[in-house]
Amino acid sequence: MEMPATPATVLVVDDAPSNLAILTETLRGEFDVRIATSGAEALRLVDAAPPDLILLDILMPDMDGYEVCRRLKTDYATRNIPVIFLTAKNEVADETQGLSLGAVDYITKPVTVPIVQARVRAHVELKRRGDLLENLSMRDGLTGIANRRRFDECLERAWRHGMRCATPLSVIMADIDDFKAYNDAYGHMAGDVCLKNVARALAGVLRRPGDLAARFGGEEFAMVLEDTCISGAKHLAEAMRLTVRALDMAHAGSRAAPIVTVSLGVASVVPVGGLSPDALLRSADRMLYQAKQAGRDRVAADCLPLAC
Ligand code: GH3
Ligand code: MG
Ligand code: MG
Repeated sequence: MEMPATPATVLVVDDAPSNLAILTETLRGEFDVRIATSGAEALRLVDAAPPDLILLDILMPDMDGYEVCRRLKTDYATRNIPVIFLTAKNEVADETQGLSLGAVDYITKPVTVPIVQARVRAHVELKRRGDLLENLSMRDGLTGIANRRRFDECLERAWRHGMRCATPLSVIMADIDDFKAYNDAYGHMAGDVCLKNVARALAGVLRRPGDLAARFGGEEFAMVLEDTCISGAKHLAEAMRLTVRALDMAHAGSRAAPIVTVSLGVASVVPVGGLSPDALLRSADRMLYQAKQAGRDRVAADCLPLAC
């Protein structure tokens, strides 16, 4: 498996400057090393730029390493970063506690330089393979945008976020108009190129970190829009419709226009118990069907109860 060429980033967290100096010196030739002298600083740095691995001291004033690890492992965004405890605490109970918190390894001080190097190297490589596989399993092979699996996961997460914060959640479904005729007229290869262009156009309209554009099936795309009400989602759907039009790809067999167009269905809801992400998807799908019925190349929108 091919590994990325950029050096992996390793965050070293220790309150003793002499320890930091030794570790930094040990790892600098091979890794992009960052340092933090407290648990709070470590969490701040991880939040700003997640490293590939964290070497974490346990005994530190204020927040100890166990607590830092506990917080990293409960946060979805940071739980996959491998943590290696590096500590003077050498009792079996200490090591057991560290590993049970989700650390991948536990090294006791005083450190042996080649051993730290070898263990960091091994865990960095595992982490990068994991990232690569996750990337492959979550991405649509043809268009490069998120696939259905990633969409489902993202929608579930956005649903829980909406429940917690009582904020609206929107979904847009988009489907290329008369795409069967496009394939028939221009061939399957041209159809694939069209799918790629439309995917890029749709994804390009989204800007917020809580937004996701995915390939939902053949020539259907679906978007999750966190913290977005129906009017915001309609606005985005209309922008998507115009962006696809602006591609200006000839489509002689379309009933909607002489160029490639999409129809879009929009649905919004403030997630509550008793409703499900599925109901939101079905509603967006119904709206997509309405947009098709009304003549294609347009947006139709609906608000589930409580969303407006
Ligand atoms: P409508 O406007 O009602 O959506 O009509 P349509 O022709 O787009 O809808 P229909 O569902 O009948 O046809 C979808 C077509 O999309 C059929 C299939 O040949 C094509 N398609 C699905 N997946 C792919 C793909 O990966 N590549 C290509 N080239 N075509 C695909
Ligand atoms: Mg279609
Ligand atoms: Mg379709």
